[in-house]
Amino acid sequence: MLTKKKKAYFKKLLTRKLEALLAERPVPSGEDSVPVKEGLDFADQATHEAEMDLSFHMKQRHGNMVAKLQEALERLEEGTYGICESCGGEISEARLKARPVAVLCIECKKAQEADEKLRGAS
Ligand SMILES: [Zn+2]
Repeated sequence: MLTKKKKAYFKKLLTRKLEALLAERPVPSGEDSVPVKEGLDFADQATHEAEMDLSFHMKQRHGNMVAKLQEALERLEEGTYGICESCGGEISEARLKARPVAVLCIECKKAQEADEKLRGAS
């Protein structure tokens, strides 16, 4: 279980990350619509599409991260922060410091990644 001091530490860490992320803001919709360029050859067109794709994914990732940080803060309030969602064990403090939004302990994370790799290969 997290001590009060550690709880306060992670709350500050998560809040700061969340605020930084919200201050950053993704490109507001409307401004990101890249005008269609005329006369692009195939290579240019592909680059153009890759750029659009990238900005879409970045926005998605931004939104996901905000949600994850908010969830982590909720878990902190509920007292379930730092507890692995899969096995119920404690997530190490070092791992939480490196990745404050982690919901799985390192063993479960590894198992999940191995599982994803297996499924990806089939
Ligand atoms: Zn676990």
